Amino acid sequence: MSISDKIDNLLIKAEIGRNLTRTDIIALLKAPGDYSTDIFDVADRVRRQQMGNEIFLRGIIEFSNYCERNCLYCGLRKSNSSLSRYRMTEDEIIATAKQIKKTGVPTVVLQSGEDSFFSTDRICRLIEQIKNETGLVITLSVGERSASDFQSFQQAGANRYLLKHETASPELYKYIRPGCHLDKRMQCLRSLKHLGFETGTGNMVGLPGQTMEILADDLIFMKQLDADMLGIGPFIAHPDTPFAGIDNDDIELTLRVVAVARLLTRNTNIPATTALATLHPQGRLLALQAGANVVMPDFTPEIYKSRYDIYPGKTDTNPAEETIEKLKSDIQSIGRTINFSVGNRQIRPYQGITH
Ligand code: SF4
Repeated sequence: MSISDKIDNLLIKAEIGRNLTRTDIIALLKAPGDYSTDIFDVADRVRRQQMGNEIFLRGIIEFSNYCERNCLYCGLRKSNSSLSRYRMTEDEIIATAKQIKKTGVPTVVLQSGEDSFFSTDRICRLIEQIKNETGLVITLSVGERSASDFQSFQQAGANRYLLKHETASPELYKYIRPGCHLDKRMQCLRSLKHLGFETGTGNMVGLPGQTMEILADDLIFMKQLDADMLGIGPFIAHPDTPFAGIDNDDIELTLRVVAVARLLTRNTNIPATTALATLHPQGRLLALQAGANVVMPDFTPEIYKSRYDIYPGKTDTNPAEETIEKLKSDIQSIGRTINFSVGNRQIRPYQGITH
């Protein structure tokens, strides 16, 4: 069978929803560049069929750029002494959540480095206040915590949790996140699923030492976890980290991983990540046409926004209201509309790891 026939057959199989094997996934990731458009088109059709034509918004507040970890790729790593650190006050966080509510965005994502200043009690208090004063659906993205912390967050009113696994290779994980273990991360994700959180995971594409086989394992992990949200972004080297100077301008491969994630997981919520918009002026729109269906405007106040410096060149430094206005016209240009509802994934009871 020619490569062309093989890829065509795989795409037919993927579009009708038959399961893709690890070998199939690797073949789609490795297919020559000419096949990208076909892969994106099929993922776009599956997205339309599973999720409709609407794009859901989540408003992010990056409330602390302190982090106790030392990930080799990240500008927030604790050894980066050139970063000017900040913690938003509780009043500032609540005021920003109210601003999100005012724009009609129905969910807030509270994101920070791993910062133990924000103890379980402090975060629970924030969740309760935001719930009482805005009624927003609350997503947390505050790193690894214990199962009992997750339970406390849930009892306080948190609905969703984002914890990217970053890479499914235990060796690569250990290398890029010194002192951390992939098993522990995966255990956190399983606890979140068992508790009934809408759970997001995801990876970085283009990491040094990453192979197509590792990327396939990332995708299989996302599927096996039955993740509800998938954040897939390109690795972008930060100049104040040990990975400074490593080139990655391969937006194409990131889009391919987004597309295959859609083919594999069908009805998950997949954001067009800010990192994609950083690598390419049309990155966000390209992702929305390759399987993505969510955008996450950044509501962090201007005085802090540029200091949440995970990777360099974040383009989304305008006020979130302006970003949403621009989004509306961009999204219209590709025949889509914004949906201001919560956009839950259709919930099924978690059955544990599926194979
Ligand atoms: S990736 Fe997360 S845990 Fe690692 S240094 Fe950055 S903020 Fe901290």
